[in-house]
Amino acid sequence: MSRNEDLFTRAARSIPGGVNSPVRAFRSVGGTPRFIARAQGPYIWDAEGTRYIDYVGSWGPAILGHAHPEVIRAVQEAAVNGLSFGAPTEAEVEIAEALIARLPSLQQVRLVSSGTEATMSAIRLARGATGRNKIVKFEGCYHGHADSLLVKAGSGLLTFGNPTSAGVPAEFVAHTLVLDYNDQAAVEAAFAQHGQDIACVIVEPVAGNMNLVRPAAGFLQALRDQCTQHGALLIFDEVMTGFRVGPQGVQGLTGVTPDLTTLAKVIGGGMPVGAFGGRADIMAHVAPVGGVYQAGTLSGNPVAVAAGLATLRLIGEPGFHDRLGAQTEKLVQGLSARAQAAGVTFSADSLGGMFGLYFGAKVPTSLAEVSACDTQAFTRFFHGMLSEGVHFAPSAFEAGFVSATHDDAVIEATLDAAERVFARL
Ligand code: PMP
Repeated sequence: MSRNEDLFTRAARSIPGGVNSPVRAFRSVGGTPRFIARAQGPYIWDAEGTRYIDYVGSWGPAILGHAHPEVIRAVQEAAVNGLSFGAPTEAEVEIAEALIARLPSLQQVRLVSSGTEATMSAIRLARGATGRNKIVKFEGCYHGHADSLLVKAGSGLLTFGNPTSAGVPAEFVAHTLVLDYNDQAAVEAAFAQHGQDIACVIVEPVAGNMNLVRPAAGFLQALRDQCTQHGALLIFDEVMTGFRVGPQGVQGLTGVTPDLTTLAKVIGGGMPVGAFGGRADIMAHVAPVGGVYQAGTLSGNPVAVAAGLATLRLIGEPGFHDRLGAQTEKLVQGLSARAQAAGVTFSADSLGGMFGLYFGAKVPTSLAEVSACDTQAFTRFFHGMLSEGVHFAPSAFEAGFVSATHDDAVIEATLDAAERVFARL
């Protein structure tokens, strides 16, 4: 047995499925997950010492590449002063100010420790601030695992959702309306019927949890207009897209400003940091100022915040996102060209440092279109690339990530591997 297999067998005895987050278990692609021993720049090494070019990047945070020396130094310097105080620090103020200075929608921000906490808190806040119960989410968007968000569309248009997880009572999702992404007419119909009762619309403004799916022209603006017209709050879940697609998130790219924004991943630079923030009058509802309770023992953790601050400083350098976007485009264009040359049905898209690969003829615009892609071809591609030393997300429903350390040589090595793998598909 290989060391990865050995560890996986051992892990499954003490951890459910051998993993601490389900997608890591390789269930949809089969095979044995790689147990990672270390990472540096664009590379990860598994427990057997095998090196892979990594396009997962811890699912988004590793925008500077793994173990960036300045981020590591910031963490080390913070750690020697104590790991957690449960009291305010100057660094928390600095990161709040840095986030507010960068994102158009933020006037105030509260730190948490994960994306799940950020979205859960933002939704509670939206309900508390509006005094309404119903929320709108979109099929294929993932916002973490809070009960009311683990929901799929019910049967029929404008019916409330069904839980997607055991342990979530139907009553807990009875206020969640689930609509198709990019279906503007459905949004208008939902507001026409329930406008008085809708607290918020939460959306991934560029979806990255059903592979990469862009918003259709006018979709985000339509959400903005409907929310404004009906007194509901618009929440952009930029946990994945924040500082990933550009220096000001999707809100900076589109000019559509949400009332609330949720963040995580990049803002922690690989450490557990999340945040929610937005208009000051709405944030005034958060405890201890207002009546919406929200708290965390490790919120604003000094070591995590140090990693986040170092990361934000480095990605704030002029031209950072232009260079990142250009490298990502080289990757997806190169993959498309090699697939085409090999006669493989394939398309790809990218935005900033985030990309989607689809085993279908055209770039999808909805979960239904993503689901219609050839998942068996994806699985063969995934394992082929892994055996060539390239680590993509182990699911056809995840976006991929490029870091600042994916230079031309790394991209070329990836494309050479892809050429061999496409030829075998
Ligand atoms: N929202 C989005 C858009 C995400 O991509 C994720 C995680 N992939 C989350 C929320 C949940 O974040 P976390 O895993 O940190 O709880």
